[in-house]
Amino acid sequence: MERKLVSPVVIDDVQPIEGADLIEVATVKGWKLVTKKGEFKTGDHAVYCEIDSFLPVKEEFEFLRKSSYRKMGEQEGFRLKTMKMRGQISQGLLLPIGLLDGYTYQLGEDVSARLGVIKYEPPIPAALGGIAKGLFPSFMPKTDEERIQNLSADYEQFRHHTFYVTEKLDGSSVTFYFNEGNFGVCSRNLDLEESAENSFWKVAIKEQIAEKLAATGKNLAIQGELIGEGVQGNPYGLRGQTVKFFNAYDIDERMYFGLNEFKAMIASLGLQTVPILDLNYTLPASLDELLTIADGASVLSPQGKSVEREGLVIRSTDRKISFKVISNKFLLNER
Ligand code: ATP
Ligand code: MN
Ligand code: MN
Repeated sequence: MERKLVSPVVIDDVQPIEGADLIEVATVKGWKLVTKKGEFKTGDHAVYCEIDSFLPVKEEFEFLRKSSYRKMGEQEGFRLKTMKMRGQISQGLLLPIGLLDGYTYQLGEDVSARLGVIKYEPPIPAALGGIAKGLFPSFMPKTDEERIQNLSADYEQFRHHTFYVTEKLDGSSVTFYFNEGNFGVCSRNLDLEESAENSFWKVAIKEQIAEKLAATGKNLAIQGELIGEGVQGNPYGLRGQTVKFFNAYDIDERMYFGLNEFKAMIASLGLQTVPILDLNYTLPASLDELLTIADGASVLSPQGKSVEREGLVIRSTDRKISFKVISNKFLLNER
């Protein structure tokens, strides 16, 4: 599902910040953000812009220039990032509901287009771009994970489930499929033309993924994260590139494999999964605690160096529940 970057919300709580006279902290779903004292109160409606919103250069957003001015390609705008003020983490922006000019909104609807807000996307290196053979095929889902902060209403219910936890790797999504005799390699949104320059195709060839998938005799997709040189600044300091898998999908049954079948499939193909950190996990009492647990060193940290991990992906064993918990420490270091 596309991310709802900007939506009308109810403010769930407003609390003072110790030692701060001019600001306070508001809660919206699982998000905390710093606001001007007295600007909002519990129960108010407001327009909430999530982190990664790229706001247009307009008079009403000029107050963001100093903290958030950024170019995305040729386009100028204001990019919302995770920040810390007076020791308080702040994620996103609350705007007065009046900005919607009397529009009859539904709570939670995406109003980004109305405000001219788009998603901030960093530039894609050429080796991860490539020429499209087509759009992402409709016979399998794109890779995606919802943020736990947007599922806070379900948190209590999730506490009754048992989960497995994997490290979220900071790379680039790749899908390999074998369907009705055709092999394909897809980036996040595109089915890519074969090319010797493209990093996703290079890995496919090096790991003989076409041959391996064909040998299963099934219509199958496997999805993973490409990491290494030239990908997201290669935080893990790898030589070359490699892929670590997090999904297997049965195209005919239109179903993801559950954990055990997934692990067995990836192992039988001679491939690797993303790091599995826990196979029998229950959630801590609060979302705040879970966010603290997401901070930590990557298990892929190179020898003698500790790399902040991007976060965790937490899934129920049957894979019906799945979400990401991004480390706030990681987000605070993000450029
Ligand atoms: P957003 O929609 O929040 O702006 P995004 O969807 O573009 O961000 P990410 O924040 O990277 O991307 O989150 C989802 C992606 O995480 C998946 O598409 C997948 O490529 C990647 N990923 C990395 N590690 C894992 C993992 N262990 N399990 C599942 N997905 C993973
Ligand atoms: Mn997403
Ligand atoms: Mn990512």
